[in-house]
Amino acid sequence: MLSLKSLTKTYRTGDKALVSVDIDIPNGQVVALIGPSGAGKSTLIRCINRLVEPTSGQVLLDDVDVTALSSSGLRRERRRMGMIFQEYALVERLTVMENVLSGRLGYVGFWRSFLRKYPQSDIDEAFRLLDRVGLLAMADKRADELSGGQRQRVGICRALIQNPALLLVDEPTASLDPKTSRQIMRLICELCQERGLAAIINIHDVALAQMFVQRVIGLQSGAIRFDGPPDGLSPDV
Ligand code: ADP
Ligand code: ADP
Repeated sequence: MLSLKSLTKTYRTGDKALVSVDIDIPNGQVVALIGPSGAGKSTLIRCINRLVEPTSGQVLLDDVDVTALSSSGLRRERRRMGMIFQEYALVERLTVMENVLSGRLGYVGFWRSFLRKYPQSDIDEAFRLLDRVGLLAMADKRADELSGGQRQRVGICRALIQNPALLLVDEPTASLDPKTSRQIMRLICELCQERGLAAIINIHDVALAQMFVQRVIGLQSGAIRFDGPPDGLSPDV
């Protein structure tokens, strides 16, 4: 369970990006975060793992107060938050397998992965994940040989191999065609259900969100303007 309590971010410039946001997301639930550009969506996602430091309020992940952690505690807790990015953020000259395994270190100690010999259990898990997303045959291909949809599947495996409690997903389909976008959204939602993961997906394509998620949160000027099932959304959101 992820709980945001009165989460507030005022940038040094005076921009009030988040104003006392309260959100609870139970395990297994996928929430789509929508809203116009500048609404605070990226700030919200980044405050959860403290890539952006909240000005006040709390982030609780399974009752751990992420906002109160020291840097070593934060490093540990970030391992429980898988991230999926718009531009995939793969290492192009590494193989699919190596990219997936790099997730075992998280983005903090990423470059150490080149020096590390992985335990067989990690390798087995990477194969299982690649099989689940339909990329088993591509394990030895270099990342730069893949299509956009295949890259995002690798990104999903890399996020999941750290066995997170939460997925933070930033515009996962913004670089993909409509059909591939639907496949990727379906895959992310299915995996969250299978694994009991809470997820928050920053997505500007409202129609796509409506197709796959049961809950949409609409942000505007840093505050929640809508929170409910997508069929309750008015067309002008
Ligand atoms: P969204 O992701 O919904 O487009 P953002 O979270 O990126 O919204 O931005 C929310 C508000 O905070 C905007 O007014 C934006 O200009 C401002 N903002 C974002 N990042 C910074 C920053 N690093 N410094 C100052 N203001 C920022
Ligand atoms: P994205 O929206 O693709 O996540 P960024 O994270 O780079 O883009 O920036 C988020 C928003 O914050 C943008 O709208 C950008 O204009 C704004 N922003 C970033 N840095 C600053 C800053 N130092 N001052 C004001 N606004 C900023």
